Amino acid sequence: MAGFTFKGGIHPYEGKELTKDKPIRRFTPQGEMVYPLSQHIGAPAKPVVKKGDRVLKGQMIAEAGGFVSAHVYSSVSGTVKSIGKHRVATGDMVQSITVEGDGLFEEADPLPIGEIEDMSKQDVLDAVKLAGIVGMGGAGFPTHVKLSPKDPDKINYCIVNCSECEPYLTSDYRRMLEEPEKLVAGLKIILCLFDHAEGILAVEDNKPDCVKILKELTFNEPRITVKALKTKYPQGAERQLIYATTRRAISSAMLPADAGCIVNNVDTVVSIYHAVIEKRPLTERIVTVTGDAIADPCNYLVPTGTSMQELIDASGGFKVKPEKIIAGGPMMGFAMFDTDVPVIKTSSAITCFSRDEVARYSESACINCGRCVDVCPGRVIPARLADYANNHDEDMFLKYNGMECCECGCCSYICPAKRQLTQSIKTMRKLLLAKKKK
Ligand code: SF4
Ligand code: SF4
Repeated sequence: MAGFTFKGGIHPYEGKELTKDKPIRRFTPQGEMVYPLSQHIGAPAKPVVKKGDRVLKGQMIAEAGGFVSAHVYSSVSGTVKSIGKHRVATGDMVQSITVEGDGLFEEADPLPIGEIEDMSKQDVLDAVKLAGIVGMGGAGFPTHVKLSPKDPDKINYCIVNCSECEPYLTSDYRRMLEEPEKLVAGLKIILCLFDHAEGILAVEDNKPDCVKILKELTFNEPRITVKALKTKYPQGAERQLIYATTRRAISSAMLPADAGCIVNNVDTVVSIYHAVIEKRPLTERIVTVTGDAIADPCNYLVPTGTSMQELIDASGGFKVKPEKIIAGGPMMGFAMFDTDVPVIKTSSAITCFSRDEVARYSESACINCGRCVDVCPGRVIPARLADYANNHDEDMFLKYNGMECCECGCCSYICPAKRQLTQSIKTMRKLLLAKKKK
């Protein structure tokens, strides 16, 4: 099989055997549902309901707070219990709407979206916006904005990130196996928007079954190709994916569209299908519940707003007390200290480990082995950047291209001195990005 790839990267333990053969189970929540108003990059959504209102499944409860924002929909029927701060997986307290579900799942009318044959490009964009779709791979960038580049005629590639390179995660894998038709149909909808683009389904070669299914499905689709990428972390990071599939390089100062590319992940593309063809807003996503501390690891189709604790309980709870619970996967996810937090549009996984290996490490002095440089896909010098970050030297951090780091974690993973390089670099990047925003 071919091996499209990028420079650098690592081969961590995959851990996917825990859930890769577990078909997606539909999860029915019992408890209260919590819908944060910021589940995306951009302005928070604004509530359009008030305490005591009855809401239906698929009813808008908060409208986008600007162009770069997204609507929020209830995923159950019930009553609005409160609007106020609630903890989310990052640990932050975020303004949220809490709905007491009534167990009836009574549905609102379908979204007022026409038939695809009669839709203009603007109608398709409006449908994506109306459905509240955001990048579900983690970033949460509103999809209607991503699909509206300055010059659509200059887009040459619409890439679907089917790599799922993050260890332990299998939600995209199961979606590709179980609903590949929706994925291909979703990509065809995206291609309607870009007359000069070809579609690429980019799959890591550790998923040969998905490559085969997608190749069969797109055999008669002249605008779509399936590319098997070398299995290597972080193959699915946007810049690395673009380079691996098109040989086009972008920097942190550029958008993918500047290089003629649009990238979306699997669940996002399927949500576009749901919106345009089935006229359904984004109210559910697939979540992998996994790790060696979970009794019955599994993939679930979960209504947004569901408590992560409910999902852990549905998986038989913990077979051993976990030392670490991560929202997402072990490389890019973040440690949680509270599991009573909602599944949101960007929640891909809950990973529970019996041992917190990282906490056991103690850092020692750099031995100048250069391994962090070898694996860095951002082509920077992690050891030096971490020093600048630890010394709060913003000028040198910028001079040595600290903003090109994609926070993949490869340098920390490979470092024999167990230096927490990514953590230091990440903290400095966050600070500089916040300054830039001001
Ligand atoms: S410096 Fe950033 S991009 Fe490079 S390996 Fe470390 S985390 Fe990844
Ligand atoms: S991998 Fe660790 S020890 Fe080696 S050069 Fe980088 S920071 Fe130093």
